Amino acid sequence: MEYTTEFLPKISILQKVYGEKAYPAERVSVMWNKFKCLTYQEWSAGIDRAIASNRWAPMMPQLEDVFINEINKSAQLNRKMIVSKATNGICKHCKNTGIVMKTRARDMIEFAFRCTCPLGEPDFLFSGSIPRVSELTNCASGGAL
Ligand SMILES: [Zn+2]
Repeated sequence: MEYTTEFLPKISILQKVYGEKAYPAERVSVMWNKFKCLTYQEWSAGIDRAIASNRWAPMMPQLEDVFINEINKSAQLNRKMIVSKATNGICKHCKNTGIVMKTRARDMIEFAFRCTCPLGEPDFLFSGSIPRVSELTNCASGGAL
């Protein structure tokens, strides 16, 4: 991220929302050192979210939480792109959504399962509590899926 055109404009917004006293030069300098490695997309989205969810001026712990989340999102997008390349475009099971739908014959209700491809790995989008499609065989007692 670039200091003058990308970092500072968002600092101005923080100062406008929470007051300039909340973000003096010394604090801004610490923030720059801490967050300069973020991409502008991460920085911008993170500050917007921090403003939307904090009644009082967010300080380093709150900002760090927000940016950890943004970095996770970017990492996941990157992973999806890598998998997309590795699978030559599209996973034929989940069409790169990471989710496979299965219909239960008994009542035709649809259930979501995580795909067995890398996109089905548990992460912040798909909680690990969603079973993998490979775990279907364990469902016999609850009615065959
Ligand atoms: Zn898949």
